[in-house]
Amino acid sequence: MSVNLRIPGPTPCPDDVLEAMSRQMINHRGPEFAEIVTRITASLQHLFETRNDVLTLTSAGTGAIEAAVVNTLSPGDRALCVSIGVFGDRFADIARTYGADVTMLSFDQGTAADPARVAEALRADASFKAVMVTHNETSTGVTNDLGAIAKAIRGVRPDILILVDAISSLGSVPLPIDAWDLDVVFTGSQKGWMVPPGMAMVSVSKRAWDAVEQARIPRYYFDYKKAKSYLEKGQTPWTPAVSVYFAMDVALKKLEAEGLANIHARHARLGQFTRDGVKALGLRLLADERVASNTVTAVVVPEGVDGAALNKMMRTEYNTVLAGGQGALTGKIFRIGHLGLVSEQDLRDCLDALKQALPRVGFASPAVAAR
Ligand SMILES: *Cc1c(COP(=O)(O)O)cnc(C)c1O
Repeated sequence: MSVNLRIPGPTPCPDDVLEAMSRQMINHRGPEFAEIVTRITASLQHLFETRNDVLTLTSAGTGAIEAAVVNTLSPGDRALCVSIGVFGDRFADIARTYGADVTMLSFDQGTAADPARVAEALRADASFKAVMVTHNETSTGVTNDLGAIAKAIRGVRPDILILVDAISSLGSVPLPIDAWDLDVVFTGSQKGWMVPPGMAMVSVSKRAWDAVEQARIPRYYFDYKKAKSYLEKGQTPWTPAVSVYFAMDVALKKLEAEGLANIHARHARLGQFTRDGVKALGLRLLADERVASNTVTAVVVPEGVDGAALNKMMRTEYNTVLAGGQGALTGKIFRIGHLGLVSEQDLRDCLDALKQALPRVGFASPAVAAR
C-alpha cells in the first residue's frame, strides 16, 4: 500500500507526471525546450486568469517570495505586511533582510485578515509603497478573503503594489489575478500543481514592471527582467530544472482538461469533507470555519495528546504522513493537506486512521468512544 502523503506540499503526483520526469535531457537553449516553456507559460496565464506576464523560476516557493521583494522594492521602502501566520511573517523577514522598512499588521492565528483594518493602516500612513499579503496561510489553514482585501486596498491607494504569496492556493482555489488587480502573485510546483518541487511561477503586472524599473535592491539570480527577456527567446536565464518543466507540461494539460471551475469545486468539496470528518471525530479546527482553507486543514491537538506521538503513530502504523505545526504552533496542531492529486478516498483513509490512532495516544472523545 502506498503512503498516504497528507502534507500541504510536496503533494503526490500522477504517474504520467512522474514518468515525464524520467525523460532524457534536452538542450535548454534548443527549440524543444522553447516549445515547452512557451506552452507552460500560456497555460499558466490561463489558469492564473491573467494577461500579465508569467515567469517560471527554478526555485522553491521561498525564492519567489524573495524575487517579489528584490524586484519591486528599494532599501528603505515602506511596506505593509498583512500576516496571519508563519508564511506572512516570512514575507516580512525577507523584505527586512533586503532593507525594506516593514510595518506588520498581524491577526490572531486561525483568523483571517480584516480588510477594513488593512484599509485603515493605509489611510493612517500614506508612505507605503507595497502591501504584502498571504492568500492561503498554510501554517494555520486559513484563506484570506483576498478579493475583499484587494478592493479595500485599492479604495485607499489605487496604485500601491500588492504582492501576494499564493503558493498554496493558486491553481486550487479561486484567485482571479486580473479581476482582483493584483501585481505580483506567485505559487510553487509542489503544492496544488501535482508536480515535484523545483519551479516557482510568478505573475507580474504592468504596475509591477514599472516598480521593477525603480527598484534598487540588488538582485542577480531572481532578476525578473532577465527572466522576461529570455522567455521571449523561449529560454530561462539560467539552466532550469528541465525535468520539472517536463512534469509541469504534463500536469498543466491535465488541469486544463479538468477545467478551473471543476478544480475549484473539487477542492471546496474535499475541504468540507475533511473539516466535517475531523469534527465528527470530536476534534477542533484551529481555523475559524468561515475562513477555513480548502487546501489544508489545521487540527488542534487535543488536551492530553502528544502531537508528535500522534504523527509518528500515523506514519509508522497507518502509513499516513501528516504535517505538524510550525513556529508557535509546534506540538499544538497537526495539519492535513488536501490539495492537488487527492481523492475523497485518500481523506477517508486518513480520517479512519486518525479514528484508530487517537485512542491509542490517549484521546477519548464521544465520537471515538461510541464506535
Ligand atoms: C509552502 C509555502 C511556502 C514555502 O514554499 P517553499 O517551496 O517551501 O519555499 C511559502 N508560502 C506558503 C503560503 C506556502 O504554502
